[in-house]
Formats: sequence, C-alpha cells, structure tokens
Amino acid sequence: MKKWVYFFGAGKAEGDGTWRDLLGGKGAGLAEMTRIGLPVPAGFTISTETCDYFYKNGKKYPSALKKQVTENVAKLERATKKKLGDPNSPLLVSVRSGSARSMPGMMETILNLGLNDRSVQGLAASTGNQRFAYDAYRRFVQMYCTVVMEMSKEDLEHRLRAMKTRLGVIEDTAVPSSGWKELVGEYKVLFHEKTGKVFPDDPMEQLWGAIGAVFGSWMAEKAVTYRRVEKITGLLGTAVNVVQMVFGNTGENSGTGVCFTRDPSSGEKIFYGDYLINAQGEDVVAGIRTPMHLSEMGKVMPKVYGQLQKVRVKLEKHYSDMQDMEFTVEEGQLYMLQTRTGKRTPSATFRIAVDMANEGLITKEEAILRAKPEDIERLFYPVIDVKVDKKTLTSRILGTGINAVPGAASGKAVFSAQKAEEWAERGEKVILVRRETSPEDVGGMAVAQGILTATGGKTSHAAVVARGWGKCCVVGAEKLDIDYKTQTMKAGGKVIKEGDWITLDGSEGVVYSDAMPLVTPELPQAYETLMKWADSVRRLRVRTNADTPQDSRKAREFGAEGIGLCRTEHMFFTDFEQPERSHERQRAIQEMILASNREDRVKALDKLLPFQRRDFVGIFKAMDGFPVTIRLIDPPLHEFVPHERAKQAELARELGIDVELVARRVEQLHEANPMLGHRGCRLAITYPEILEMQVRAIIEAAIECQKDKIKVLPEIMIPLVLDRKELWILEQATRRVADDLIKKSGIKLNYLVGTMIELPRAALLAGEIAEVADFFSFGTNDLTQTTMGLSRDDAGRFLPDYVDEKRAGVFAADPFQSLDIKGVGMLMRWGVENGRKTRNKLKVGICGEHGGDADSVKFCHAIGMDYVSASPFRVPIARLAAAQAVIEQKAARKKGRK
Ligand code: PEP
Ligand code: MG
Repeated sequence: MKKWVYFFGAGKAEGDGTWRDLLGGKGAGLAEMTRIGLPVPAGFTISTETCDYFYKNGKKYPSALKKQVTENVAKLERATKKKLGDPNSPLLVSVRSGSARSMPGMMETILNLGLNDRSVQGLAASTGNQRFAYDAYRRFVQMYCTVVMEMSKEDLEHRLRAMKTRLGVIEDTAVPSSGWKELVGEYKVLFHEKTGKVFPDDPMEQLWGAIGAVFGSWMAEKAVTYRRVEKITGLLGTAVNVVQMVFGNTGENSGTGVCFTRDPSSGEKIFYGDYLINAQGEDVVAGIRTPMHLSEMGKVMPKVYGQLQKVRVKLEKHYSDMQDMEFTVEEGQLYMLQTRTGKRTPSATFRIAVDMANEGLITKEEAILRAKPEDIERLFYPVIDVKVDKKTLTSRILGTGINAVPGAASGKAVFSAQKAEEWAERGEKVILVRRETSPEDVGGMAVAQGILTATGGKTSHAAVVARGWGKCCVVGAEKLDIDYKTQTMKAGGKVIKEGDWITLDGSEGVVYSDAMPLVTPELPQAYETLMKWADSVRRLRVRTNADTPQDSRKAREFGAEGIGLCRTEHMFFTDFEQPERSHERQRAIQEMILASNREDRVKALDKLLPFQRRDFVGIFKAMDGFPVTIRLIDPPLHEFVPHERAKQAELARELGIDVELVARRVEQLHEANPMLGHRGCRLAITYPEILEMQVRAIIEAAIECQKDKIKVLPEIMIPLVLDRKELWILEQATRRVADDLIKKSGIKLNYLVGTMIELPRAALLAGEIAEVADFFSFGTNDLTQTTMGLSRDDAGRFLPDYVDEKRAGVFAADPFQSLDIKGVGMLMRWGVENGRKTRNKLKVGICGEHGGDADSVKFCHAIGMDYVSASPFRVPIARLAAAQAVIEQKAARKKGRK
C-alpha cells in the first residue's frame, strides 16, 4: 500500500533532511533534527504527493489516507503518552503547511488543535494555569474560524478588542481566563451564524478540517502569486505537518523565538535573532509585539541560551549552510520547531559562501553554486548618495525603524498593496507603507521599490519576504502614525499623503521625506572573491552586447571579455561622444535612404563613414586585446525615416528636396510585416554600398588602432542570413573591401567574417553555411520569434497567460527571456553540431537576450558554445552561470557513473 504519512519522534524518523520534495522543507527539517538527536516534539507529515493527488482527483484524498492518519495519531498518542481530546491532560497538535521551497507565511497554520470545552479543563488542570488554557482555546477557535472556514479576521479581532475594552485591559497578557472563555463562546456563536454549523468538538473532525485547509491554501491566490513572483515551479504541493504542541506562553519561564546561525543582512558570523517571552508560535513572525534581541535572551535564560548555541553550531555544520530556526521554550525546556536554509541579503549570500568555503565547511565549488543570478543583480542596488549633506538628510528624517534589508529606495507613498500594484502598473515608483504586512500584500510588495512597516522585527513577514528579494525594507518604525482611512502617515511633525515622495534607507533604518538621489554602492569584497573563483572554473567566455565606447568600458568593469554584438544601426541615431552631432548622423542616413540612385547613396554614406569609424575606434580601445563582433545594418530602412508629415517637411527642407518625394519614399518602404521583410542582410544584397561603407569604417578604425598599438580582433557579422549563397555574396564583398584596405595600409590585420543564426532555415542548413562563415552567433531573439511564430514585439500581450500556472501554463518561463530549450534549443544544438562537422574550429556564440539568462547560459555551455554575450549589467550573471554549468555538469556525470 502506498505510504502517504511519515512519522517522527523520540530520536527516530521515517524520512530525513533530503526528502524535501516528499515531506516539504519543514517536514524534512523536523525529521532530520529528530534523527540527529535535537529536542523536537513528535509528530507526522502527510506528504506533498497527497497534495498532488488531492488536486489531480477533484479535491479527494487517496483512499488509504484516513487509515494512515488514524494510525499515526495513535502512534503520536503513544509517543507523547497523551490522548487527543482527553479531559485530563489532552494531547494538542499544531497543523502546518510546508512545501519543498520555503514560502514564508503563504500557507496556513493552526495551533492548539484538540481543544474543546472538556479538554480545555484538562489543559488548565495539568498546567495549573486556567488563563493560559483558555487563551490557547480562543486562539485555536479564532484560527479555525479564519483558516478553515475563511471567516473575516476583522470580525473576530473586533470582538477581541470589544472584550478588552469591556474589561478595561490593554495588553492581551492582562486578560483573565473568564475573558477568554467568554470570547470562545462569542466566536462559536459567530461561527454558527456564518457557517450554519456547530463548531466541531471532536478533535479528529477538527484535524480533518485543518488538513483540508492546509491543502486548500496551496492554491490560494496569495500562494500562487508568491510562486509566480519567485518563479517557483514544478512542486508537487504542500505537505501537512501535525506536531505535538509545546507552549511558549505558559509564563515568564517560557517563550518563543526565531534565529539565524549568521547575520542574514551582512552575512557576519554572529548568532542573530529575536525572542519573545511568554508568547506563542506566530507572535514573533507576525510582528505584533517588538521582540528582544537574542543576546538579551542570553542574559535572562542563560542555560537555554547555551543549549541553543550548541544547536546553532550543530545544525550549521550538519547542513553546511546558514540556518533559520524556530524554537519554543516551555518552562525552561528548549524545543526546536523548524530549521531551514535561511533567506539572506544578496551581499550576505556572497559573504556566507566565501566565509564557509574559507572555514572549510563547504568547497569553493559549492560556494559558487550558492550564489543565484538574482543575488548578483541585487548587489547593484543603490544607496543614498553620500554627497547629500548631513543637514539636508537630518532635516528630512520622518522617523527611524529597524534596518531589515539594506539598500535605499525612493518612491511615492501608497498605503495598500492593491494601490502599489495599480500605480506600478502605470509606471510609477512606489513605496508600500503598511502598519504590518501579511501574505496578502505580496503582490504589492513585489512591485514596490521599498517596504516600510510600523511594527515588527527583522524576522517579521515584511522583513523575511523583502530580504529574499533583496528589496530595501524598514520595519518597526513605531513612531509612524499610519492611518489607512485618510491614507496618510504622520511622522516627525509632518504629514505624508498618498503619492508624496519618500525615501527609505534600509541599511540604517531611516525614513526620509522627498526623493533622495541614489547611487550604486561598492561591491562587497566577497563578491570579487567568489567571481574570481567562478572565472577560474568556467569554460565559456563571456562577452557583452554594447554599441558605444561608454557601454564597452562599463562592460569591461563587469568582466566582459570582448563584444559579442555591436548593433551598428544604433550608431546612426545617436552620437554618444558628441551628442550635438547626432542630428548630423541622422540626416546622413536619411539622405542615403531617400537617394534615388547609387551615386547619391554613396555620397550620403560617405558622410556617415567618419562617424562610424570614430565609434569603432572608441570601442576597439575599450576592448583592447579582446574580440569585437560588429554586426552590419539590420533593421528595415523605414525605421530611420519620419512618418509624420511635419517631420517629413522638416527633413525635405533640410535636404533641399520636395516633401512629396520624402512622403513617397516612406510610403514605398512600408511593409505589412517588416520583421519578415526587407531587413538584415537582405538590405546589403540590394544596397551593397551600405555594407561597403560599414566594412570600410570597421577596417579603417582597426588599422588606426593597430597602428596605435591597440590589439584589435574585429569580427564582422552578417545578420539574418538564410542561405549559403546569400552569405557567400556578402562575405566576398566584405573581404574585397577589407583586404584592399589592409593591403594598402601595409600592416598585418586579422579579421573574421561570420554570420548570425537567427532563422530556422539557417540553423537547419548550418552545415552548408559554415562553409562560408568563420563563426556563428545565435541571435536567439529572432530565432525564438521565427521558430515559435511569436512576434517579439507583440507577444507580451498574451504570453503571460502562457506562463501563468493558473491559466494555460504552457511554458515555465517567457521564451523571450529564458531559452525554449525544447524547441529553439533543438535547432541550436543541430546548428552547432552541423556547423562544426563542416568546420571543426567554428567559433560559436550567442548574442540574443538569452545570453544574460542563467539557465540559457547553462544550455549554451552544454551544447559546446565558445562564448555567450550579455548586456553589461548581466555580464556577471553570465560569468557565474557559466561556472555553475561546469560544476553542475561534473556532478551530473559523477552521478551518472554511480
Ligand atoms: C537577435 O535577434 O537575437 C539579435 C541579437 O538581434 P536583434 O535583437 O538586434 O534583432
Ligand atoms: Mg536579430
């Protein structure tokens, strides 16, 4: 019979830490901690396969589940020597979700399950604490109402507040047992009113309700949104963990906490966390009370703290990674409730990986695998410019809070997640300001520049979620008076209304009025170290896509080893070195397009030549010693001429020609489908003089640089080729111009002539095309467009449906972002293999956007490319991914041999 339920307790477990896919992260962590002898309350895990079955079978459970749950409850009762619903000393359990990937706060939790009017008296008697027992009871009923029956939280909270007002108390801890008892009664009446049912007394009925709610929460809107934002795909579902309750709220000798084995913000090796005395479960994470720091716990509970320190060392060593742990202290006894790999800031990711490798906890290769592409991206987040003087800064302080996630952000204040999404949708930068955040807010948090909350600590929901994204976040800014009704925030004697600009400094925990100038910070030392390690491992070279000397220099700083794509047409419009001359360039290209014969076209092209030559000189200098691939003109000519009448008139005036002539030419250039029209190398077939001018500019610049002792390696690239003969004509024309210039110059200059592979036909006929090409560069933007028959310019309108798992869910990712390995990848593999059959030294690279996407880079490595080319900011991502590809491939081979 298939096993759906897995038990753990008293030092034994039916699974271990590697069973994350089946038991979820929490279940696997509990099993593993049990096995290695840590104090873990007993329990059992209903597997993620059960969740998968549930959704694949019209929300029905497997037939064997009931029996297995009943057996495991009995086992748990034996292990704990307590019984569910026992009127003397009842067993109580928590029921929690947990999938293979951590989704903080996204799914449901129910605590204190097993309480009813009889067992609550047993709990009161066995603990000798009536107040505690009834508080536990009302928490259970409250959670059951909201989580299982989806009743409004506000309705219940409202009754709680009313009860406290009636009794004249402020803190929950001051409510007497009679107050809680009364509230339980009120909740049950409300339950009956809203659901038409009597609140379930039978603990097994309660348990099945809770199990159903946890499985249901897997497909709740907020969980689906979180998975989409975090790009979490391919999971079976959530597991359900049923664990014996331990209590942190029995008095001053009890408490609950969350801790990290290292500082999740800086990565520093210090024990880090929050602790709340006399509190239960979610109180720390919910951020309702502001907790004490772990070091203070060391003073008030030295013995337990010492024990916790030992657990810290043991777990970190055991998992070889920074751990995020939850624990409860019940009457001086420590219980570990969870351990998982801790979320950390990008900067901490690098520091922890490098430190752990240096400490010998992991290998350098493992350290390289620890950094994710997003971590690199987020390292480049800005801070407030140090040039802003102290006085200005001080005068704008609205308040201070806890520095949850570093970096700085400016945006317009909005007070709801929904507003944040609406405003961001129309292109506004927003800061989401909330008293506290909850999982419902994740959509708004994802689009905000930064997040500010009035309550909570570094482990509150806002902090944990924002940290995972490396998003600037300030929490616990308690002096901020946030009013949702008026959509305002009063702070530092000022009133911030919705739409007013504010700035957050997540490193210092300060909130400022107005938009402050932000700059990108220095990279941490550990980043440099890890990238050096990555560079020593990777085989793929990493180039950049750059069209200007400035971009080229920037890309060099990011570690680019040459240019994989210089789109020459971008130079027709803008003069980046002498912007005042941009107009002159534009007019020259327009004159060329409007010319009615070859002679006039050549005249116009001659005007363009010095501009292009100067650009190439700048680029060659920036890339001294590295190859530079320059692509000849690619877009259809209509993109260079004005379409509005007024602009056409202006152009005609300047060129001294009739406006009707301009209009007619523009009309002639019109194409129904320009993407499949007269573009790419088809332009050079019709107008060879354009190719001649461009090749001349490239080679003259190269000769000039070579004479100046700059090492140039030009690679001339012909775009959108579809046939060997087509390429041959253009290759011959290129070599004629280039060889003639080189011969006349009297110097030795090597150059290559190659092609882009952007059409399925070119990929299929790669073997023939390679007879003429020195190199291939896969233009996967066009190759994706032409292979899939999806317009790269328009598909954005409907592609989201294709990627959304709740809609069509055809692809795991947007194929224009991450290579469609199955389809487009098949053509690429074929192209590389057949190209190399003809020319075994054929140089092969990629220059589509995918060259900066980690998964695509790994595929390029796998099919034996020589290099990838990415936009400057994504060069480090490609370097890292290229190293990870080597390590992962090695690991896969090793596994295959076993
Ligand atoms: C491509 O098609 O992938 C490419 C790099 O060229 P472009 O984006 O300029 O069409
Ligand atoms: Mg292209």
